[in-house]
Amino acid sequence: MSTPTLFWFRRDLRIADQPALAAAAAEGPVVGVFVIDPALWGPAGANRRAFLVRSLEALDRSMHGSLVVVDGPPAKALAELADSCGAGTVHATEDFGPYGRQRDDEVRSVLARRGVDLRLVDSPYAVPPGSITTGSGTPYKVFTPFFRSWKAHGWADPLPEIPVEWLELDGPWALPDQPPVAVQLPPAGEAGAWAAAERFLDTGVDGYAASRDLPGIEGTSRLSPYLKWGVLHPRQLLDHLDDSPGAEAFRSELCWREFYAQVLYDRPDSARHAYVSRMAAMELDEGEEADRRFEAWANGRTGYPIVDAGMRQLVAEGWMHNRVRMIVASFLVKDLHIDWTRGARFFMDHLVDGDLASNSHGWQWVAGTGTDASPYFRIFNPVSQSKKFDGEGRYLRRWIPEIAHLPDRSIHAPWTERTGAPAGYPPPVVDHDVERRESLDRYERIRRDWA
Ligand SMILES: Cc1cc2nc3c(=O)[nH]c(=O)nc-3n(C[C@H](O)[C@H](O)[C@H](O)COP(=O)(O)OP(=O)(O)OC[C@H]3O[C@@H](n4cnc5c(N)ncnc54)[C@H](O)[C@@H]3O)c2cc1C
Repeated sequence: MSTPTLFWFRRDLRIADQPALAAAAAEGPVVGVFVIDPALWGPAGANRRAFLVRSLEALDRSMHGSLVVVDGPPAKALAELADSCGAGTVHATEDFGPYGRQRDDEVRSVLARRGVDLRLVDSPYAVPPGSITTGSGTPYKVFTPFFRSWKAHGWADPLPEIPVEWLELDGPWALPDQPPVAVQLPPAGEAGAWAAAERFLDTGVDGYAASRDLPGIEGTSRLSPYLKWGVLHPRQLLDHLDDSPGAEAFRSELCWREFYAQVLYDRPDSARHAYVSRMAAMELDEGEEADRRFEAWANGRTGYPIVDAGMRQLVAEGWMHNRVRMIVASFLVKDLHIDWTRGARFFMDHLVDGDLASNSHGWQWVAGTGTDASPYFRIFNPVSQSKKFDGEGRYLRRWIPEIAHLPDRSIHAPWTERTGAPAGYPPPVVDHDVERRESLDRYERIRRDWA
């Protein structure tokens, strides 16, 4: 029998359009393995862990039950597995995140000592991070020119289906138990992903440019959990997009994901620290009062309906609409003066699509500490945002039953009702106008120090 090769699944939990798997299959029989890495498993919130387990179950089914699941630090786990089945190579899709790169260096050197080769092919992106630079050879820091270069660079077509000879190893191999979760997770696996993708491509993409900002309707693709785990590759979606305005808007959103991945690749420290380091001097609130306000934010009880609706959606669904992610993030940083990293951690605890690059840089964009940031002085007004993007209060009524009976005129600011906010719904935790000025004053103080 020919020597088997290991295929190490990571953020590419699919069979279709899998260049790294195709490279493995070209060498002979393949042992497909997923490593439950304690360094990643622990910090992932229960929602993401549950979706991962379901995605692995679906993957296992499409491999006729041959998926091997091992536990422990990847270098040790893979070395033992390669020894036990006599594999001479390990194939995987390249990881460009800070932890993944460090882990892969270690895996490569541990395997090399045993004469086993780690081969990294492809990436979770249409254009791998680091592939395109500005005319002067530096990484892009601004989205629009990056988008232009990214489109000009282009990407490979999806691969045709390839036959894989899966090798079954004697187990027992057991997936970890699914953590019990209250949220209704999206259907797992490639079939579920494609059902959602086809629905969006058939009926959603045409109106996407206008509908993507309206949280009260299903105006976006909801594909983020599948892209996060590589159940779908962006290449597969890009392949279906034409030049219509809706398709171009969708292409641009897919590109934001790639832009942030390249920013994090360039500056791994920006996962947890201000990309614009001088913004780290911003005065922040800490202590009991800040904790109380953070709790109000996290529990959807700030008294600002659009903020509360978003936070309730996050906790209930493990997902939040993009426009509302921006509004709640702005509120935490600029109305409550709380460090963006605290909000980003809370998001990562709950999001099924939680992705270090998109999350940290989504937060930094709003906080004004990131690349291509909205200027610090552009502060989201939670009432006017709510009126503009959820004028009829559909989103608010879905998530905040306490105010569902209010008329459109006051639902965005219930305290303006003659009798005040309805019973059971809190008054505003802070006054937006006051805190907006406070934020601008704080910004002015650090700007004076830069001069
Ligand atoms: C504070 C904040 C935190 C965020 N955290 C995450 C995160 O952890 N994981 C995540 O996938 N996205 C994150 N986003 C981006 C965005 O909100 C989600 O990707 C989007 O809401 C997912 O829903 P969808 O699939 O219906 O999006 P669609 O509008 O259908 O977009 C299609 C795909 O494009 C990508 N995309 C869209 N918008 C963005 C964006 N602004 N930045 C990066 N990629 C984008 C996603 O992969 C998304 O699935 C964050 C945004 C903000 C403002």
